[in-house]
Amino acid sequence: MSSSTSLPKAITWCGGKLMDTEDVVDAKKLGGEVRVYECLWDRGSPCELWIPGDRTGLGWHMQDWHDVKLGDKQPTICLWQDGDGQGPCSQTLQKENVARHIATTHLSSAAVQCSNCGSELSRRDAFQRHIQTGRACEGATGIPVLRGALIDASTWEGKGGIRGRAN
Ligand SMILES: [Zn+2]
Ligand SMILES: [Zn+2]
Ligand SMILES: [Zn+2]
Repeated sequence: MSSSTSLPKAITWCGGKLMDTEDVVDAKKLGGEVRVYECLWDRGSPCELWIPGDRTGLGWHMQDWHDVKLGDKQPTICLWQDGDGQGPCSQTLQKENVARHIATTHLSSAAVQCSNCGSELSRRDAFQRHIQTGRACEGATGIPVLRGALIDASTWEGKGGIRGRAN
């Protein structure tokens, strides 16, 4: 993997979200539509960007913006804060596993919304209990609740230096 540290970071607006230009360039190359997530790593840090949810994109983001180097086996503490006012996640991880951890723990949502009453259940099994026979929502369907926001980068016209990502 080539070094990406020499290129300056560039940011751009896309779909009303402030993003790393490279992530927008990548999204455009891949057809345009991409789901992005508000970066909640170390709230109050200068990033304040919307980031891709795939491990590769996340890995680059963490390396470029938060000094969590790809392939680094040093332990670090997860600073992601997705609970309101609850502070960071604080799980101890190897740096090289941070991107995967964020993708699976903080970005993916197992939550489903009840088609009948609209309430959100944190997990599918909780939803199954919610719609059990004899309950008010018996027979309702569970609609997956997706985090993040869908943006369309296909019409984005800015320019960005490619930082040499593999693929
Ligand atoms: Zn960030
Ligand atoms: Zn975490
Ligand atoms: Zn319900």
